[in-house]
Amino acid sequence: MLRTHTCGELNMAHVGLEVTLSGWLQRARDMGGLTFIDLRDRYGITQLVFNLEVNSALCMEARKLGREFVISVKGKVAERSNKNPKMNTGDVEILVEGLSVLNVSKTPPFTIEDHTDGGEELRMKYRYLDLRRNVNRKNLELRHKMGIETRNYLNSKQFLEIETPYLIKSTPEGARDFVVPSRMNAGQFYALPQSPQTFKQLLMVAGYDRYFQIVRCFRDEDLRADRQPEFTQIDCEMAFVTQEDILNTFEGLAKHLFKSVLNIDVADFPRISYDQAMKLYGSDKPDLRFGMTFKELNDLVKGKNFKVFDDAELIVGINATGCSEYSRKQVDELTEFVKRPQVGASGLVYIRYGLDGVIKSSVDKFYTPEDLAAVVTEFTARPGDLILILAGKEEKTRSAMGTLRLEMGKRMNLLQPGDFKPLWVVDFPLLEWDEETRRFYAKHHPFTSPKPEDIQLLDTDAGAVHANAYDLVINGTEIGGGSIRIHNKELQKKMFTVLGFSDEEANEQFGFLMNAFEYGAPPHGGIAFGFDRWSTIFGGGDSIRDYIAFPKNNSGRDVMIDSPSIIKEEQLKELQIRLVK
Ligand code: ASP
Repeated sequence: MLRTHTCGELNMAHVGLEVTLSGWLQRARDMGGLTFIDLRDRYGITQLVFNLEVNSALCMEARKLGREFVISVKGKVAERSNKNPKMNTGDVEILVEGLSVLNVSKTPPFTIEDHTDGGEELRMKYRYLDLRRNVNRKNLELRHKMGIETRNYLNSKQFLEIETPYLIKSTPEGARDFVVPSRMNAGQFYALPQSPQTFKQLLMVAGYDRYFQIVRCFRDEDLRADRQPEFTQIDCEMAFVTQEDILNTFEGLAKHLFKSVLNIDVADFPRISYDQAMKLYGSDKPDLRFGMTFKELNDLVKGKNFKVFDDAELIVGINATGCSEYSRKQVDELTEFVKRPQVGASGLVYIRYGLDGVIKSSVDKFYTPEDLAAVVTEFTARPGDLILILAGKEEKTRSAMGTLRLEMGKRMNLLQPGDFKPLWVVDFPLLEWDEETRRFYAKHHPFTSPKPEDIQLLDTDAGAVHANAYDLVINGTEIGGGSIRIHNKELQKKMFTVLGFSDEEANEQFGFLMNAFEYGAPPHGGIAFGFDRWSTIFGGGDSIRDYIAFPKNNSGRDVMIDSPSIIKEEQLKELQIRLVK
């Protein structure tokens, strides 16, 4: 037997027991007549002791072992004189009687410690060594737990886990497809799914009225910290349901995960409409860990000869409570912040309500003390508060203020890790107008149903149509989104027309779905959650990469296996592909 116990389980109850442990050598220390080795496996670390006086040959052998050697030892569990309360096994040690080296190891290129000396690129290259570190192990354990608990919950609600194909045809989720050439159908390509969207809808037509899948999806997008070319969704669909049923079912899932994984009881999730979210937070994924909601000031501040405000579509402000004593430098920093191209405001106006009760602003020239007092009253501000105001084009100003609000949240220490504020954002617009291409795009995807009462607007004012579409947001991150779907062929056809597809294009790409709708498609809807992101939020991490065993780097490369890579001429020939040089 290579082990009787793991390196994480021995304690005082085992003292005197003869055990065999196997694992990796974490570190070794020679102290006079004694050699100590910390032996590590997935479960923990156990201290081994070799005594020069008791068995000098064995002790000399132990002194030759290097970091990350794989060894197996036999020995007796003994109480430690020098206990380590920080370790699960810190009360005991093993008095080693026998040692075998199962494998040697080169010195690893970085230390296998919580605070390692290895940079990210190096750790990605030796990911199997990086994965030996506690942080990564904990992240993967958390992810595993979330997967298991998701299955438990959905299984208890009669959901069936059904696999859908990876070699499919393009699904328009809004990103570029990864494609795979077909050897047997030369010149033709499969696409890897951006999501199983159409398949899960077909499963509803087939009568499998509760489906889920923890499934890999592929999108060829530019990468950011929270994006990977392949990522995992908890993908779900239900038939014979209303939006209300879906929100309740998946709020149940979220609460179950909060409880079973983090042991947190969360209150019922607030629901706010997309329009409200934009008006109050300047974002469709508001962080509700703090308030600081927007107030629109057009009526209060226009018409006083301040051109910036007079010309603006929207003048909007927030109250940074307790910030009135910000220094000149701090205010300048904020002004620089909002003027950065990513934020895009042209300037920042402030009103200080000093602790001394004096109100001063950066626009005193244009506004009387009474004018300013009126704004202060609008915010029910108190001495000590600082009101920050942006003005300009409506949409841009809202989003700039949304960014400033988050920045203030950070500066004011209001984004506490471990504080979770989930919510539903509902009633998304169905479509989004793109100025550049001068056409509508589906805000969610083309299978999302318009709200029944808005259908008549599709011909006259399509931009005003709302959908039964919803997102689950936690702490400013979109964790999932879904919608009630179209299940009627005519409406689906109409939707494609609004999106600028000709009938032929629509038929060529989605004929299979529209045909299926002619064979008794039930009303249905669903949702998909970003599993990597959700794990990251629960784990308190910054990057989804840390919650994926083998992630890609920022250029979409796997630097460990060195992929993507060139393929052989023969392979290309077989696929009848010629590269354009
Ligand atoms: N397929 C959608 C997505 O990937 C989710 C859904 O509508 O269920 O965003």
